[in-house]
Formats: sequence, C-alpha cells, structure tokens
Amino acid sequence: MLIQELISKKRNKIDLSNAEIKFFVEGLTQNSISDAQIASFAMAVCCNGMSVDERIWLTMSMKNSGDTLKWKLPGPVIDKHSTGGVGDTVSLVLAPALAACGAYVPMISGRSLGHTGGTLDKLDAIPGYNSEPNQNTIEHVVEKIGCAIIGQTNSIAPADKRFYAIRDVTSTIDSVDLITASILSKKLAAGLDSLILDVKCGSGAFMASKEDAFTLASSMVSVANGVGCQTAALITDMNQPLALSVGNSLEITAVLDLFLGKNNNLRLKELTCILGGYLLAISKLAADHQDGIGKIARVLEDGRAAERFSQMVSYLGGPNDLIDRPHKYLSSAPMIVDVLSLRSGHVHAINVKQIGLLLTKLGGGRENKEDIIDYSVGVDQLLTLGSRVQKGDVMCRIHCRTVDDAQNARDVLLNAYDITEENYFNKNELVYSVVN
Ligand code: URA
Repeated sequence: MLIQELISKKRNKIDLSNAEIKFFVEGLTQNSISDAQIASFAMAVCCNGMSVDERIWLTMSMKNSGDTLKWKLPGPVIDKHSTGGVGDTVSLVLAPALAACGAYVPMISGRSLGHTGGTLDKLDAIPGYNSEPNQNTIEHVVEKIGCAIIGQTNSIAPADKRFYAIRDVTSTIDSVDLITASILSKKLAAGLDSLILDVKCGSGAFMASKEDAFTLASSMVSVANGVGCQTAALITDMNQPLALSVGNSLEITAVLDLFLGKNNNLRLKELTCILGGYLLAISKLAADHQDGIGKIARVLEDGRAAERFSQMVSYLGGPNDLIDRPHKYLSSAPMIVDVLSLRSGHVHAINVKQIGLLLTKLGGGRENKEDIIDYSVGVDQLLTLGSRVQKGDVMCRIHCRTVDDAQNARDVLLNAYDITEENYFNKNELVYSVVN
C-alpha cells in the first residue's frame, strides 16, 4: 500500500477501506509517513469528508495506536466530554458526583486551548495535585475513590498527538470527521462503557451555531454508539460564561463554593445535574434522566460529592483540607479592580470568546504550548445575561498583576458586555437539545 494512493483516493472522493485507514494510522504512529503526507491526507478529509464507517475505523485505529485502560470494577466506567467553554468547571464537580452515585470515572482531560479553559490547568492551581500520574496511579485512584481527573499520558492514543499537532498548523482542525476521531479515540482508550457529550454553542464555543453543534454531536454519538460505548450528547449554551468566575484559582473557588452549598453559580450546578442525570440513565444507574438529575443533586447537597472530590485531590498529592481552607492553598492576585458600568440597562449579550481570550492576556491561559500559567489571575462576579445594571454598578472584578493589565482588561470587558435600555433577554436557556 502506498500513502500517496490513499491521499489521491480521498482527494477523488472515494471511500477508504478499514485496512487503508489502519495503514495510515500505523504510519502516523510509527513515523513511517511524513508530516507533508499527513497534512495532505488531513486536507483531503477536510474537503471531502468521511463516511460513518470511515470515521469509526479512524477512531478505532487511533484508539488502538497506544495503551487502552481495562477495568474490572463493580460499577460502570463512564465519563463526560465537553467541546470547551469559558468558566466551565462541570468536570470538577461531575466526576466526584458520579463516583458518589456508584460509577467509576477515569476522566482524561486537556489543557487550555485558544479561548477555552482547560480542566487540568484548573487542577494544577491546587498545590501538589499531580494531574499527570502514571497508569498504575490512575487505576489505583479510580478503584479506590471512583474518579480521577488526569491528563493524557504519552501512551494513550499517540497517533492523535502527532495528527493533532500537524492539523493545528495546517488549518485542518475544523473537520467534523477529524474532531470526532480525535476526541473519541482518547475517550474510548480509557475503557468507557458510556459517555455523555456536552457540545457547546454560542459566542464562547468553537461551534458558534446550533446547526454546527448538532452536526458534531450527531457525528460523535453515531461513532461512539457504533463501537459499543453508550453515548448521548446535549447541545448546551455558551452565550455566557457557565460560572460567574473565569481564571484557574477563581474557578476552583467556584467549585468549592458549590460543594459548600453556596448557590451563586446556579447554571454550573444545573448543567452538572442535567449532564450527570442523562449519563446515569444511559449507564443504568438511574431509571431515567429525571431520576438521574435527582441523584446527582442529592450527592451535591449532602456532601458525598464533596467528600469524593477531597479524597481525589489528596490521593493525587494535593492538600486534604482544601475545601476547609482554600485561601491557604489557592494563589490570589495582587490587585482586585472593580469594573463599573458606563450605562444603565440590561445585559443583552456577552462576547464570551473575548472574556476567554482576556484570561490568556492576563497570563491565566496559554498562547503557546510552553507558556507558564499564572493561576491567580482572572475575572469574577461576572454579570449574567438579562441582569439589570445601573450606571456605576460593579459589572465584574478583575484579578491581575499590574495597573496596565487592569486598564486593558477593563476595556475588553466593557466591550464584551452589550448593555441595552430595553430588556430583550427573556430566556436563560441552558440545554438546546439532546442527541442520542
Ligand atoms: N479537541 C480534540 O481533542 N481534538 C480535536 O480535533 C479538536 C478538539
């Protein structure tokens, strides 16, 4: 088989066989095909697409390009994946909540990407937390506690690592076929029985429109179910940050507040319950999603999810009194500056992507893979859509290092908020649709 023949076939819109796709993935993993050939293949797929069968074969070949986790546990092995949002800490709340409901959650998560935050960066804000343990530790913590939120090891889906790096610099990221295989190969390598996908749409999402979000959700659901992992997707709103804080330490604080029953991040709690409810239902740990929502809400409210979170943090090297004494451990920025509204009215729209990018400008996200993150910076007390505001009211607070940073951030935030006299906003939508 010759790689150039496969590239021509895809360029000529001819479907590839399972053997041909395997050959491509082996070449990727074993370095027997060049970056140029991989980029051409990616571009041909981007332009001409793949059939569902081709997507399944690509996903499975990439999943099998490295180690896969195998479990013998008394409950189902399950997980959630989000396509990326701003102020989105659902993973940190949901994994321990699912564990408290009898599931096992080896949650392989990522770092910040573009304007969206990364779950691992948030966990790295906790001193001592080892977000990249070896496979034995992952297995031990999942068995003991029921959940471990950790990074992708080098041995999990290595084909995706090389493929993604080349796609990233050849304008071939935004292919539904390639995104599907990339995300699912890593998730399925964790040995999952079932999966819930949170596909975001709106001003802070990679898929801004509901139509594009639906296309991606349908692709991932059909491939994951096609290979025997029970999967559903929710299309959810990202037209406002999910929690009222953006920034690594600030988002950990929001999670701890939720565990302590402080109800200031209602959307975060609600989405956690809904995603968890559907996941418990497809994993047969709940009669249906409503029953599942109730189960997740209960473990959040009675402290059982908080206990699992504390145990996970301490098993993975973090402090065992983080929930009781967050200020002892989480770094705080030297300056906290109020942003005051320049006009009276209602919050009509929020440019969430701008807020996500602002975090990177403040030093709390990455422009390059090697960048070192400042965990303390960010924005909190963000006004939500539809809020009434008077001129001079605090719209949010900036946590930063310098007066210049505060000034720049203030300009970005005032621009990101569209405040109108009339209140056009009447629905705080959170979930648009379910795909299964
Ligand atoms: N996230 C991934 O892991 N892969 C993609 O291709 C896009 C987003």
